[in-house]
Amino acid sequence: MMKLSKSWQQNLAFDAEHIWHPYTSMSDPAPVLPVVSAQGVMLELADGTRLVDGMSSWWSAIHGYNNPILNQALIDQTQKMSHVMFGGLTHQGAIELSQKLVNLSCENLQHVFLADSGSVAVEVAIKMAIQFWFNQGKPEKSRLLTVRAGYHGDTFGAMSVCDPENGMHSMFNRILAKQLFAKAPDCSDDQSITDFTEKIKANHQQLAAVILEPIVQGAGGMRFYCPEYLQQVRKLCDQFDVLLILDEIATGFGRTGTLFAYEQAGIQPDILTVGKALTGGMMTLAATLTSTKVAHGISANGGVLMHGPTFMGNPLACSVANASIDLLLESDWQQSVQSIENQLKQELAACRELPAVKEVRVKGAIGVVELHQPIDIRWSQPRFTEWGVWLRPFGKLVYVMPPFIIKNSELKKITDAIYQVLKACV
Ligand code: PMP
Repeated sequence: MMKLSKSWQQNLAFDAEHIWHPYTSMSDPAPVLPVVSAQGVMLELADGTRLVDGMSSWWSAIHGYNNPILNQALIDQTQKMSHVMFGGLTHQGAIELSQKLVNLSCENLQHVFLADSGSVAVEVAIKMAIQFWFNQGKPEKSRLLTVRAGYHGDTFGAMSVCDPENGMHSMFNRILAKQLFAKAPDCSDDQSITDFTEKIKANHQQLAAVILEPIVQGAGGMRFYCPEYLQQVRKLCDQFDVLLILDEIATGFGRTGTLFAYEQAGIQPDILTVGKALTGGMMTLAATLTSTKVAHGISANGGVLMHGPTFMGNPLACSVANASIDLLLESDWQQSVQSIENQLKQELAACRELPAVKEVRVKGAIGVVELHQPIDIRWSQPRFTEWGVWLRPFGKLVYVMPPFIIKNSELKKITDAIYQVLKACV
């Protein structure tokens, strides 16, 4: 039990009554932990408890928290300008960031839209694909094909391509755009690519794009699949004249062992979305990149891309993203991710013997323990806290994706906690 000051008890009472947290109830709110500071991989709570962070604030804080270089980039930019509209104006931070993104991503991605969040980047990607075909005189090519167990965000376009059943949005199904879903990628079963092939063959005349999370499906089920599947998808998109959107909002910037997960398949998307770790988790920012074919296709005959949010290209976020990318590239991040992968494989293996556990899987700096039954977060959260770690399981999945700077001893604390808590879980 936390020993909190009177003022913190009052704060938490207000929070419970008035503040929405992600995916929570207002009438029966799940408890939340009060964080007062974060440093490196440690979160400090209001009662002085320190927790090793196993979540990187949902894939994003790859350098850990309170990094002095990212802080300085933010401070320096506040002295110049915190924000300026992007309509009709531009600035150094956005130019530098777009140069970096064009240089780091594959050759055919040459054009950058700076969006405010991952979901918005996905909306923009979908709109780009639809506008592209509209402008080619093929307005009927306006649907998307995706795979089950995917997750692309919480806004309406993004929701329409999340898994329609196990996704978090089934109550909106009646008003969502009707997209096409192939079986979830499964490299041990040819049926998944066969199903995808049949769907694209039968529907390509209506299809603007295919959208997928490459190699790792995140919030839709924490599933991993093989590069060969992606290679087949690329071939089929070319064969049937359908654009390929890859959503690397979760996987981008090294998490799976390569800077972008698509590199493992040696393919190039027509449209790419990135976010989360783009700013090292410090500011909200995302980007949608496209090939010249897509960008100029949208812009042909006087066409303009119909999107332009108020905080597009926010200078504070751009300057932190520039610093974060430099920091990543100057570090030996491949070695860090590899070492996290090795340790997770070794230490999570013990969980396989636990009755509650169905499967353990590890890819890059991502470790997943899938259970037979959903875990009750109200039961698990205080237990993980007692073991000194911050983890946020969902459904049947207990997973860890730590900051790349985590030390062996800190990661060991997390894997021990997972083992001990799941041992007590029957
Ligand atoms: N796409 C993927 C693959 C994601 O994992 C997420 C976030 N979990 C999103 C899109 C949406 O990003 P955001 O939460 O920043 O809107």
